[in-house]
Amino acid sequence: MALFLPEFDLQRFNTLAIPARANFYVAVTNHAEVLEALAFAAEHKLPLLPLGGGSNIVLADHYPGLVMHIKLHGIEQVAEDDSSVWVRAAAGENWHEFVQHCLAMGCYGLENLSLIPGTVGAAPIQNIGAYGVELKDRVAELSAIDIRSGLAVTFTADSCGFAYRDSVFKHSARDQYIITSVTFKLDRVAKVMLEYPSLLQQLQLSDSALNTAITPDQVAAAVIAVRQEKLPDPAITPNAGSFFKNPIISAEQFDLLRQRFADVVAYPQPDGSVKLAAGWLIDRAGWRGYCEGDVAVHAEQALVVTNPGRGAGTNVLALADKITQSVREQYGVVLQLEPRVYPSAR
Ligand SMILES: Cc1cc2nc3c(=O)[nH]c(=O)nc-3n(C[C@H](O)[C@H](O)[C@H](O)COP(=O)(O)OP(=O)(O)OC[C@H]3O[C@@H](n4cnc5c(N)ncnc54)[C@H](O)[C@@H]3O)c2cc1C
Repeated sequence: MALFLPEFDLQRFNTLAIPARANFYVAVTNHAEVLEALAFAAEHKLPLLPLGGGSNIVLADHYPGLVMHIKLHGIEQVAEDDSSVWVRAAAGENWHEFVQHCLAMGCYGLENLSLIPGTVGAAPIQNIGAYGVELKDRVAELSAIDIRSGLAVTFTADSCGFAYRDSVFKHSARDQYIITSVTFKLDRVAKVMLEYPSLLQQLQLSDSALNTAITPDQVAAAVIAVRQEKLPDPAITPNAGSFFKNPIISAEQFDLLRQRFADVVAYPQPDGSVKLAAGWLIDRAGWRGYCEGDVAVHAEQALVVTNPGRGAGTNVLALADKITQSVREQYGVVLQLEPRVYPSAR
C-alpha cells in the first residue's frame, strides 16, 4: 500500500537542494501503487509531479500537489538477434548505473551518456544527450500509464517526437503520462562515437578515425573523467546541470552574429539552422563565476547555475532571468530554461 506523506520537504530530492515542500509525497514501487497514487491525486484534485532523481527541476515555491517519486525497479533483456540486444529498464532505475550495467552485459551504444544524473524514466522527457549521442538514437519503445485513464500505453520511438532536448512529453503529451519503463536497442558489436574534441583529448587521440582500437569501456571512462573535471558534483555544489538549452537560430541570424563576434561557438544543423553554445554566450556576456546571495554561475562552466547557499528556487530563477535578459540584449538571442519549473508560472 502506498504511503502518502503530507507537507513533505523535497530539499534532498532535488539536485539544486531547494528547500521546497509539497502538499503530499508518495514513493511508488509497483504498478498498483502508481494507480493508487493517481486515484489519490484525482480524488483530492491535486496536480501531480512525477519525480525521478530531481536533477532537471527547479522548485520555485511550495508545490501544491502530489509528488509521485518513481521507484520502479528492474532490468531485463527482452530480445536479441545477431547484431542487437533489446534491454528494458524500469523507470526508477538510476541512469548511470543502468549504462554501466549494459556495458557489463556487452550491450553497447549508451556509453557516451555515462554519468548523466537521474533516472531511466526521465531520460526520454528531454531526450538526454551528451558527447554526440542522444537517447533517441537507442530507444526502441517505452511503456507509460495514462494519468487520466490509468491505462497502460506503449510509445514507439517515432511517436515520442524526439528532438534536441525535447519530446512529445514536453508538448502534446505533457503531464499526461507516467513513464514506467524504457526499452533500448543496443549493439552487440561496439561502434564507438568519438566526435567530441574533449573525448579525443582525454583518450589522447588526434583524430576520430583512429577510434578502431578504442573500446566502449574506454569511452565511458573518458566521458566520466571529462564530466568530473568540467561539471560540479551536485552532492557538493547543488546544481541542475545545463540551466539553458543551446539556442537554435537561422543561418541569416548566425551570419549577422558572426560579423559582430567572429569567435562565436556554433554547430551547423542538418536543416541549415545553427545551434549556438549557450555557455559561450553567457560566458562572453560576463556571467561566469558571478555570485548573488545563495546562487551563482559556475566558475568553470557558465551554462551551470549553482545554489551553494541552498537558497530558494525564486533566487535561482531571478538569476536565470537576469542572464536571459543580458544575453537577449547583447546578442538578440532568446535563451530557454532546460530544467522544468514547478509550480510552472512560466
Ligand atoms: C550535473 C548534471 C549534469 C547533467 N548533464 C546532462 C547532460 O549531459 N545531458 C542531458 O541531457 N541532461 C543532463 N542533465 C539533466 C538531467 O540529468 C536529465 O534531464 C535527467 O534525465 C533528469 O532525470 P531525473 O530523474 O533527475 O528527472 P527529474 O528532475 O526528477 O524530472 C525531470 C522531468 O521529468 C519528469 N519525470 C521524471 N520521471 C518521470 C516519469 N517516470 N514519467 C513521467 N515524467 C517523469 C518530471 O516530472 C520532470 O518534469 C544534468 C543534470 C545535472 C545535475
